[in-house]
Amino acid sequence: RTRARCCHHVHAQEALPTLSALILSGSTVAAAVRSEVAERVARLNERGQSVGLATVLVGDDPGSQIYVRSKHRAAEAAGIVSIDRRLPGSVSQAEVLATIAELNEDDRVTGMIVQLPLPDGLDGGAAVEAVDPGKDSDGLHPFNLGRLVLSRPAPLPATPSGILRMLDYYGIETAGKTAVIVGRSFLVGRPLALLLGAKGVDATVIQAHSRTPDLPGVCREADILVTAAGRPNLFNATYVKPGATVVDVGINRTDDGLVGDADFDAVVDVAGAITPVPGGVGPMTIASLMVNTVALAEAKDD
Ligand code: NAP
Repeated sequence: RTRARCCHHVHAQEALPTLSALILSGSTVAAAVRSEVAERVARLNERGQSVGLATVLVGDDPGSQIYVRSKHRAAEAAGIVSIDRRLPGSVSQAEVLATIAELNEDDRVTGMIVQLPLPDGLDGGAAVEAVDPGKDSDGLHPFNLGRLVLSRPAPLPATPSGILRMLDYYGIETAGKTAVIVGRSFLVGRPLALLLGAKGVDATVIQAHSRTPDLPGVCREADILVTAAGRPNLFNATYVKPGATVVDVGINRTDDGLVGDADFDAVVDVAGAITPVPGGVGPMTIASLMVNTVALAEAKDD
């Protein structure tokens, strides 16, 4: 009997299939969101209103150029008119602000994105603050971030709202769950903490950052672990509670190409669900920008 149990034990270990996480495909969800946006744009067009998204790109950072291009592609596919403003890296802050002021006045422009970061020496925060809050497709204007804090309707920061859309699409429960967000930037971590902790979403949020002691231990508390640190492959299996949902926001350019903050190959065997990089949070960010853009145009139409 002892032998049998022993054999059974060994056998079970060998035969146990490796549990592999559900892959949360941002590309799939984004396609669904974008086709819904296209329908809303078409309805506005039928009423004689066009939707126009302007981007302001300063300098020649290759990453920023790629992001701006994909935003234009998504806009055009949804029937949104793209207005592409590019300024050399040598421009002054006043010239950047003048370009934004001009787009604020332009009736063709119903939404606007200032691609961040701006080159050294320019003030990105001041540029975002110069955007008409009613045209703020990024949802990053202080007015709109303030409305988010107050739980008042506003365009929401695109990456955090894209993450919520993806969790919702896959039916991942947030209410009563512990969410650990690693990162506290104004772009991702902070607004995501507000959204995940909001009434109706109801996660219990822990916001971790570079000064958090025992980061692996804190992360292992998470039912939903969001990695937004910008540290390639930092989050290995020791950071993940078995069955947890891992949302990998990181986009890191390495010699091995684009990688996330999570060590995907290791974490995929522990997590219950995980977003890949690329094809996870990135496409959701773009789709959410399109949602904001059409919603701002609809609000103007009312
Ligand atoms: P960020 O402004 O550099 O903020 C990074 C945050 O992570 C900071 O709060 C920092 O802590 C924290 N952090 C850094 N290293 C850490 C470590 N070793 N342990 C714990 N916390 C650490 O970056 P971000 O703009 O939020 O972007 C984060 C990542 O997401 C980047 O890889 C970026 O490319 C990517 N991203 C992706 C998308 C998308 O659509 N998928 C959108 C935006 C950004 P401190 O505050 O203490 O410094």
